[in-house]
Amino acid sequence: MGQKISIHPAIDNGIKPAKADFAGGTLVCKCTDRPVTVTIAAQSAHNHACGCTKCWKPEGAQFSLVAVVPRSAVTVTANGDKLAVVDPNAVIQRHACTGCGVHMFGRIEKQGHPFYGLDFIHTELSPQSGWSPPEFAAFVSSIIESGADPKNQDAVRARLRELGLEPYDALSPALMDFIATHIAKANGVLAA
Ligand SMILES: [Zn+2]
Ligand SMILES: [Zn+2]
Repeated sequence: MGQKISIHPAIDNGIKPAKADFAGGTLVCKCTDRPVTVTIAAQSAHNHACGCTKCWKPEGAQFSLVAVVPRSAVTVTANGDKLAVVDPNAVIQRHACTGCGVHMFGRIEKQGHPFYGLDFIHTELSPQSGWSPPEFAAFVSSIIESGADPKNQDAVRARLRELGLEPYDALSPALMDFIATHIAKANGVLAA
């Protein structure tokens, strides 16, 4: 194999485990002047590497790291006037800092959506350690849409597996089943 494949700077040297009893922390944007801060009063869940083109990634990263928390646990605690929704038409409303471009949280406003009630966050924005670690890699094929060389995909998937992140080209089977179950119940195909 050629040079080492970089997935994301926070996990390229290995994945740190969650801290027992960790109950949240603060997310801080990258502005040196008046940074936006968001307080998260919960441990994260379903943390994963995501290769889609919509999630915020740090400079040079092929994947984002994104997790969910209950929306009731998310509070903007400083300089919220700098936040704006990236794409008001997107299912996930990504509230980004207009100063540095970092996405502080993503929120679903559509009440019937399977993930309604959960906000998407990037725990790498937190100075605290102990957040739940990434568990799998989603939308791996989509990194090609951001310019990744399709010829490297086998090496990317091999590196993800080496890190313990099973690669999928959608969400994980557990989350895809969760979404399908929600839809089947909404449609009356399954008993609610
Ligand atoms: Zn900022
Ligand atoms: Zn994504």
